[in-house]
Amino acid sequence: MDEAALIREIACVVRGQIGVLATGDPAAADARLAAVLNAPAVDPERLLDVLESDAGLHRVAAEALAAGSPALASLAVVRSAGLPGHGDPDFLPTRFACPEADFVWYRRSVGGAPPACPTHGAVLVADRQQ
Ligand SMILES: [Zn+2]
Repeated sequence: MDEAALIREIACVVRGQIGVLATGDPAAADARLAAVLNAPAVDPERLLDVLESDAGLHRVAAEALAAGSPALASLAVVRSAGLPGHGDPDFLPTRFACPEADFVWYRRSVGGAPPACPTHGAVLVADRQQ
């Protein structure tokens, strides 16, 4: 995954947990990310600008970017909530993505139902990509 793809994936993952991760206005940050992700040509610099404009999003995005692991942005929620899986490198939750590639959500518990994409209302599709 090149850096542009990594930034895009991190932005999608952050959207899936934005209500927990954002320290500012999650709805406003989500709307801005959705606008950039659904532009004809996705500009990773603009995604970074949005992520860096919120302290909470900036922290998890920087961590995931440094590690080269978009899934880390999702796991940040697990760590902050102190849920099972904390610190376990083998803990890889199932990834669900919008077919329009603008929203990613990780299922971290058995039976947890994925939300619909807030932008497209689309049913998220499970895959094994990490
Ligand atoms: Zn979507």
